[in-house]
Amino acid sequence: MSQSAVRHLQAAIQTPTVSYPDRSRMDFGVFERFLNDLKANYPMTFSKGTVERVAGYSLVIHIQGHQSDADPVAFMGHYDVVPVKPEGWDTDPFGAEIKEGYLYGRGTLDMKGQVMATLEAMEQLLSEGAEFDRSIYLLFGHNEETGSEMSDSGAALTRDLLRSRGIHFYAVVDEGGAVVEGKTLGIDGLVGLVGIAEKGYLDLRLSANQVGGHASMPPQRSALYDVFEGAMTMESKKFNLSFNEATQAMFSVLAPRMKGLRRFVFTHLRWFKPFVLNELAKSPQTAALVRTTSVMTMALGSKAPNVLAQTGEVIVNCRLVPGDSVDQVVARTKAKVGPKVNVDVLTGTEPTDVSPVDHPAFVILQRSIQSLYPSLTLVAPYLVVGATDSRVYHGMADGVYRIQPFPNSYLDRGTVHADNERILIDDYLKGIELFRALLLELSKA
Ligand SMILES: [Zn+2]
Repeated sequence: MSQSAVRHLQAAIQTPTVSYPDRSRMDFGVFERFLNDLKANYPMTFSKGTVERVAGYSLVIHIQGHQSDADPVAFMGHYDVVPVKPEGWDTDPFGAEIKEGYLYGRGTLDMKGQVMATLEAMEQLLSEGAEFDRSIYLLFGHNEETGSEMSDSGAALTRDLLRSRGIHFYAVVDEGGAVVEGKTLGIDGLVGLVGIAEKGYLDLRLSANQVGGHASMPPQRSALYDVFEGAMTMESKKFNLSFNEATQAMFSVLAPRMKGLRRFVFTHLRWFKPFVLNELAKSPQTAALVRTTSVMTMALGSKAPNVLAQTGEVIVNCRLVPGDSVDQVVARTKAKVGPKVNVDVLTGTEPTDVSPVDHPAFVILQRSIQSLYPSLTLVAPYLVVGATDSRVYHGMADGVYRIQPFPNSYLDRGTVHADNERILIDDYLKGIELFRALLLELSKA
């Protein structure tokens, strides 16, 4: 069984389903091949399930449960991958080579490993005659890596289709969790993190105008001076620190497991809040959990070294904590940068709401992960600072939860979207066990 599971993952890695924002660069023949392989490798799932395709290549498999009136459970994923720069790799990025217990290749961690582990688990259960109470949806997108904001996003169009059918999910499970070393969070050992919310995303264009002309007779202030002055003010006066609901939920699980003074401080946040927030703000990882961040990422002036810019431009990327909003950040930015600087929104997405941690689905996830992975000191909720496709299901589910099913993946997190991406084969096999448990337990909850 486990050999065929590894072979299936190898075949998936060997099928280079690379997605690009420019869709004309995507080789959809490869995506077709990927889907055909799934059908061949998971015959029970494809025959017992109702299979649909959305937006051409996103897959919807519906496994009917006994309780047709109960809200279904969704297991999501995406099978597209980001492009590779083969020069940096020690193996063929699409070779699926096995070395020293690892399987190498683009997509092993992000996230064909999780997609295939879900399918293996479902196929095993159906072959054993397992039945489900709640219906299960397997939802696998084909263009997550380019974002759910694009008009042909498989995840967003799948959500639209299911919503038009009046479906509300009991729980949605996706990628986006993490296993981290607990040190930065004040915990000894490893912590499993389950994402319960995602930050918002906002690109702002700051600009200032001045008369152009030759740089040999410059005015008092150039356009770039004005825009940088505004942008520097924004960087130096950072947005306020606060405990949003998701970070609050995380620390209420972590605090009782901390040691000594730290534990006292974190369990008495009503006294120590300003102190704790300032401490958290010192490291980029924890600062991102307690504030809306902003950072300059691009700048533009004139097209020649000796020509004054008529317009100076700085792009600022912001990530919004739950409770904040695009409008509020724009208003606060305008106040910081002053009247000389224009503020335009290039693209903006609101933060998600926060999924409940007292919901049975969260409790099942927490308990299943903890019991299968004793190497974790504990499993806690957290705020996802990036974005996954699962954000489209907020508002259409009791809870949307993002997990990391591979307990040793923290060692190789740096290979995601980078060189030598790999998964420990033992982790992959354990992930299948985890999904077996989750499919059964969430369906019965
Ligand atoms: Zn991913």
